[in-house]
Amino acid sequence: MIQKRYKLRFSDDNLQESVAYILVSKFNIQPNILRAEVRDDGGVMVLEMKGTQENIDASVVYLSDAGISIRAFDKQIIKNQDACVDCGACISVCPTRCFTPDPETWEIVLNYEKCIACGTCLNACPFHALSLPL
Ligand code: SF4
Ligand code: SF4
Repeated sequence: MIQKRYKLRFSDDNLQESVAYILVSKFNIQPNILRAEVRDDGGVMVLEMKGTQENIDASVVYLSDAGISIRAFDKQIIKNQDACVDCGACISVCPTRCFTPDPETWEIVLNYEKCIACGTCLNACPFHALSLPL
């Protein structure tokens, strides 16, 4: 089993496709929708797929053939150190515990390797110090 992250872009025409259902039923993939945004021209989703390489590859081809733009997503959260005041508001909202206070300086340290790009912390920061461009 491997795990890969993709950015999917939907048009108005295929916005209603039940991607998660299709991936589970057709390709035995465990999908995890990390982030989803509806836009004027359709929608964007960050999707994590867990499965065999073969099944993930087949899923990518299927979604692409269905008219959904799909490409690997390897972006991570960006922390603007100048804007951060180390308030700690981001610590509790992060599902993978990326933020920890340095025990000596009390600076909030971000562990980029643990970030799954879910975007949950974006709205938690009162100082807009966090960003994750889609
Ligand atoms: S994007 Fe998600 S995983 Fe990454 S730091 Fe923010 S809350 Fe944590
Ligand atoms: S919520 Fe924002 S300002 Fe507060 S510690 Fe986290 S990144 Fe820094």
